[in-house]
Amino acid sequence: MDNAKPASSDRAPSHLFYQSRLRRPLVDRAEGIYLWDQNGKRYIDGSSGAMVVNIGHGNRHVIDTMKKQMDKVTFAYRLHFENEPAEDLAGRIAGYMPEGMDKVFFVSGGSEAVESCLKLARQYAVATGQAQRWKVISRFPSYHGGTLGALAVTGYAALTDPFTAMMKEMPKIPAPTAYLDRDNFSIEERGLRYADKLEEAILAEGPESVLAFIMEPVGGASTGALVAPDSYYGRIREICDRHGVLLIHDEVMSGVGRTGKFLGGDHWNCRPDLIALSKGFGSGYSPLGAMVAPSRMVQPVLDAGGFQHGYTYAGNPLACAAGGAVLDEIERLDLMGNAAAMGDLLKGELVMLSKRFPFIGDVRGKGLLLAAEFVENTVTMQPLAKEKNAFQRVIDIAYDKGLIIYSRRTRGGVEGDHFLVCPPMIVTREQIGEIVAILDDTLQDLASELNLPVNR
Ligand code: PMP
Repeated sequence: MDNAKPASSDRAPSHLFYQSRLRRPLVDRAEGIYLWDQNGKRYIDGSSGAMVVNIGHGNRHVIDTMKKQMDKVTFAYRLHFENEPAEDLAGRIAGYMPEGMDKVFFVSGGSEAVESCLKLARQYAVATGQAQRWKVISRFPSYHGGTLGALAVTGYAALTDPFTAMMKEMPKIPAPTAYLDRDNFSIEERGLRYADKLEEAILAEGPESVLAFIMEPVGGASTGALVAPDSYYGRIREICDRHGVLLIHDEVMSGVGRTGKFLGGDHWNCRPDLIALSKGFGSGYSPLGAMVAPSRMVQPVLDAGGFQHGYTYAGNPLACAAGGAVLDEIERLDLMGNAAAMGDLLKGELVMLSKRFPFIGDVRGKGLLLAAEFVENTVTMQPLAKEKNAFQRVIDIAYDKGLIIYSRRTRGGVEGDHFLVCPPMIVTREQIGEIVAILDDTLQDLASELNLPVNR
């Protein structure tokens, strides 16, 4: 290509400061499940960015709605005006929530949504005469955000270690990784035993000091789409009720349809006290997130002088118009139905790949929030050696082949490489075929490079 843009390695040093040394190509445009770089190379967005672009790129309805809103008003400060897109969106979101979850507090991202849940929980406790409650128990591993409050409940050593001196570390219980256990218990018994670890932690901390428990109903990047045994969810609710502990569901990644239902927790009819949403809510068209709460918690806080919390950009008309248009498309195109159907198809294909590539020890997830985990040994589920750097290699090989996936080697209680395949919810049967073909090729190359077994 004569007029090809310089490769990333030839480009001038950048003033941009990202997390890693790695430079990536400049993006040019995007449409549907595809992105193109400035050299014209096409990529399948097999992770919807970071599980964000749920309705796909370049959606006309969302773009037109945002343009119309921009012509009217883009920003009006929430303490000066209410705005119609925010009012409408809050009403529609409440309609998707478990009964009683009728109040929506807008924010601009996932960390802000989690911070809002932590702070409303605390203010509610203070307002209702339970000021001694402040500890928030969470799981290990987990990810709840990068701001210091959300980080304090995050179970991810590499991310938290540098900051522990600056924050109040919160108690952690093991995430329900029942698929790794090699004992004589049934899967449902294991689910109950993992849930009971919450009760043990509450009793050890002193129930009167425990404010809340936060968990992802379907795990995200830290655990690789971890799904607990069915028995886990109800038992967690019972334990929280028994000790007056609030249950916070972090649905930042699992919410707004990605798992095939509006909330990840809807697969088990969960009734959390607070819910954090973001990512697919704005679907990449605008930063957008929300905390959803019941009036019974909001009212005492307002009566006691108001919620002492908020963000400048929260609930602005443009972001909320984008969120409303995203929801229009989810409903018009039945994207939750498609996520469920295409998720089943893709999961089946991943299971097939695990037969050919026996270093895939587990395939899990719900809808289009799916992951596969690498192991050295499928009987013991021993992870691949860290030095193999499999989690990074799998992304890089796939990227070269034009498929973007997401992966992690979570450092903590559970160490192991996994990758997530989470294409936009508009993905078609044919496109699933395209993704699986590139994955097959990628795993073949990974196996050759790392000397991993392949069944022919
Ligand atoms: N919670 C979960 C479950 C997440 O996956 C993320 C982002 N990966 C966050 C919170 C934080 O969201 P954000 O990066 O938008 O602040």
